[in-house]
Amino acid sequence: MAAVTSVTQTKNSLVDQKKSLLDSTQIVIKEALTKLGYSNEMYELMKEPQRMLTVRIPVRMDDGSVKVFTGFRAQHSDAVGPTKGGVRFHPEVTEEEVKALAIWMSLKCGISDLPYGGGKGGIICDPREMSMLELERLSRGYVRAISQLVGPTKDIPAPDVFTNSQIMAWMMDEYSRIREFDSPGFITGKPLVLGGSHGRETATARGVVICIEEAAKQVGIDLKGAKVIVQGFGNAGSYLAKFMHDAGAKVVGISDAYGALYNEEGLDIEYLLDRRDSFGTVTNLFKNTITNQELLELPCDILVPAAISNQITADNANEIKAKVVVEAANGPTTLEATEILTERGILLVPDVLASSGGVTVSYFEWVQNNLGYYWSEEEVSEKLRNGMVKSFNDIYSTSRFHKVNMRLAAYMVGVRKMAEASRFRGWV
Ligand code: GLU
Repeated sequence: MAAVTSVTQTKNSLVDQKKSLLDSTQIVIKEALTKLGYSNEMYELMKEPQRMLTVRIPVRMDDGSVKVFTGFRAQHSDAVGPTKGGVRFHPEVTEEEVKALAIWMSLKCGISDLPYGGGKGGIICDPREMSMLELERLSRGYVRAISQLVGPTKDIPAPDVFTNSQIMAWMMDEYSRIREFDSPGFITGKPLVLGGSHGRETATARGVVICIEEAAKQVGIDLKGAKVIVQGFGNAGSYLAKFMHDAGAKVVGISDAYGALYNEEGLDIEYLLDRRDSFGTVTNLFKNTITNQELLELPCDILVPAAISNQITADNANEIKAKVVVEAANGPTTLEATEILTERGILLVPDVLASSGGVTVSYFEWVQNNLGYYWSEEEVSEKLRNGMVKSFNDIYSTSRFHKVNMRLAAYMVGVRKMAEASRFRGWV
């Protein structure tokens, strides 16, 4: 009984945490709209996704049984254009979280000036415990369930936590069969041979590196020899550790879902990358690990939370030693912690800016699919760099001009185009 109670308590606190992601997003959206002079009506329109679909997906498992999975697709705003955003496969996905993530996608698209609003999807499942065939059936089942609502000119999915280019390929194939024509622009993050873009896989990490470079300039940190901690070793975290290491920084800490490693002389990043599995797990190979929470508080110049939400909270914000925190994950720092870090003079580069490189290159992929003409890796990199530098500087100067932290400044820049488009359409 005690075990059941504690499982229920853990579940409830998770649900609360996810709900608080939406609550805190709404608080900052409201502040941003107020600062920009918009009415409460605009806030009423922006505070929740316009559309939210919940689906039940029956999947034949390898042992012959049928398991029914729950999935979601949220579309925050189609004022600017089609909605855009990833699909995550995770056992702890909730409806509230998917809603918050869809709003963040709108902000990322606004910050990067893409012709999209935000969308997001999720399926409650644990892909670490499923076979490839089961994952394929689940991915195809999800597309069949949401096919009426999505499409290259309506809502364009992409990879997110625990989904990759293979899953995008199955989803694209399923959609093309339903629509009976080849539809590469239905989804981004595809393999290159199916209309993927050069540079998409590394785009989130590249974007984070550009934000780190710009932030380092502002704070006066030399990246050569700078000490960096990266929490999380998934798509963003692992490439980021590699790029920082290649740039001459000292990556002193990394972590995965099971633990963390720290060495103030710098870790052997090549070795760790070589040993990580496809879900980003590597610390299980080591005896002397520390916890993720311990890692965040250790000495470094730059801290990059690149794992999950709610990692830097009022409980540990005073213990953070970094001079710059760059959020590669979605929602790693709570609002209270944002205040504390700001008061302590730590420069916080928020998620909706730092992780916008992924959707930026997704946009390039969609443009190339629409054109039927493909760009080189160099062209993609250059366009991404120009876009990220501009976004960083827009937000940095907004934050200086209005004397607000970078998170509020990012929301102000991110919400502006969507609010203007809604006004011109006559919605508010
Ligand atoms: N899932 C990524 C994000 O949260 C990328 C979304 C996309 O490429 O559309 O930004």
